[in-house]
Amino acid sequence: MKKGTIFAPATASGRAGIGVIRVSGELALNALEQFCVLCPKPRVATRALLTDVNTLEVIDDSIIIWFPKPKSYTGEDVIEFHIHGGSAVVTCILENLGKISGFRFSDPGEFTRRAFENGKMDLTAAEGLADLIDAETAMQRKQALRQMAGGLENIYDGWRSELIKCLSYIEAIIDFSDEDIPSDLLLKIDYEIKNLILNISNFLADNERGERVRDGIHVSIVGEPNVGKSSLLNILAKRNVAIVSEVPGTTRDIIEVSLNLGGFAVVLSDTAGLRNTSDKIESEGVRRAVLKAAESDFRIIMYDKSRKIKKNQMIDSFERENSIIVFNKSDLNPENSNLLDERSENLSISAKTEQGIDDLIQKLTTLIEKQFTLSETASISRSRHRVGVLNCIKCLNQIWNDQGTMNDIELVAEEMRLAIRALEQVTGRIDVEDVLDRIFGDFCIGK
Ligand code: GDP
Repeated sequence: MKKGTIFAPATASGRAGIGVIRVSGELALNALEQFCVLCPKPRVATRALLTDVNTLEVIDDSIIIWFPKPKSYTGEDVIEFHIHGGSAVVTCILENLGKISGFRFSDPGEFTRRAFENGKMDLTAAEGLADLIDAETAMQRKQALRQMAGGLENIYDGWRSELIKCLSYIEAIIDFSDEDIPSDLLLKIDYEIKNLILNISNFLADNERGERVRDGIHVSIVGEPNVGKSSLLNILAKRNVAIVSEVPGTTRDIIEVSLNLGGFAVVLSDTAGLRNTSDKIESEGVRRAVLKAAESDFRIIMYDKSRKIKKNQMIDSFERENSIIVFNKSDLNPENSNLLDERSENLSISAKTEQGIDDLIQKLTTLIEKQFTLSETASISRSRHRVGVLNCIKCLNQIWNDQGTMNDIELVAEEMRLAIRALEQVTGRIDVEDVLDRIFGDFCIGK
C-alpha cells in the first residue's frame, strides 16, 4: 500500500452548495490543527470555523466529522470536512491540507483501495461501489448495490468454503492411514464436488444477465437502405444523431446511442442498409452491419411498408426469436396488408408521425425484461469474474480421468488448491497487483 495521509474532494468539482473533502491516514487528525479546530467527538457532525493557521483568516464555516480507525470507510482515521462547495473554498482547503507534512493528494480510487487492503470490503464489493457511482439506470443501480453489499462475495466465498472443507478431507486421507478414515469419505467428496460443479455451472448459465445490465443491452436496427432506420434511431434517442436522407446508402458506419428502457441501459445501433453493392465503402458498412446485428441481443428488423418487399437473404437470415419486425412509413400506405410477414408478429409504425413508436418501445422493453430482469441472487457482472469462475471449474474437472474415476489423491488435492485459488483471485483474497491497479485506477479521485 502506498504510504502517506491522503486527501481529496469526495464531491464533484464545480459550483455546489456543499463540498466534502476527505482525509485518511495515520496523521489525519493533524488536519484539524492546520485549521485551528479542536478534535470533535467521534462520528458526531460538529460545526467549526476553519481558520488559516498562519494568517488566522477564517476560510469557511463548516461541519467536521471524525471517524476514528478502524470504524471508518478506509479502516484508518478519517476526517470529513463538509464545506461550502464553491471552487475558492475547496481550493483553499486543499492547498492548506497540501502544506501539512506527510499529507498528499490521493490517487484515483485510493480511499477504496485502502478500504480493500484493510479488509473493509472484498474486490467484488469494491467493483460494486465503482458500478454504483457509474450507474445511470435503475437496474444498474440495483445490481451495483447488491454487489456492493456482498452479494457476489457471499456466493464465491460459499463455494470456496465448500472446497476448503473437501480439501481438508482429502488432506486427511493423504495424512492418515486407511483405518482412521471412514470408508465412504471419498465417495462423499466425489458427490460434493460434482454437486458444486453443477451449482457453479447453473450460476454461469445466466445469459450474461449481469454483464448486460452493467454494460448495456445491445439492440440494432437492420433493414434495406432508406426504410427509415436512421429516422427511428433519432426518434428513440430524442435527438438528431444519425443523418436522415432520401439518398440510399447514407449510413455507412455503425452509429450508437444509449437509451434507458424500463430501467435497463440499452445501446441502440443504426447500421448500414443491407443490400448488395459494388461500392467498396458501402459494402464494408454492410459487412459490419450484418456482424453487429448478429451479435446484438435484439434486432429491430425494419421494412418499408410503402414498398413491395423483396427477398433479401441477409435480412431473412437473422433469427426471428429475438427480433421485432416493424413496417415503417405507415403514414404512406396504411392499408397495404399484403406485406405482412407471417413468421412473426408485426408492428406498423411511422418514424415520421411517430405512430406506433410507443408500442415498439413497449414491445422491446418487454423482450428485454423477459431475458434480463435481475434474479433473486447476485449475477456475475464482469468478465473478470466469469474467467475466474470458469478457471475454477476447469481445475475441478481435472479431478476425474476420462473414465470418470477420481485421479490420484495427491493430484486431486492440487487441482482443488488451484480451484480455490481461482476463486480467491476473483474476490481479491490473493492480491494480484496489476489487477488491483487496473480496478482501482478506474475509480474517480476521492473515492
Ligand atoms: P435509412 O436509410 O433506413 O436509415 O432511412 P432514413 O431514416 O435515412 O430515411 C430515408 C427516407 O425516408 C428519408 O427521406 C426519411 O425522411 C423518410 N422516412 C423515414 N421514415 C419515414 C416515415 O415513417 N414516413 C415517411 N413518409 N417517410 C419516412
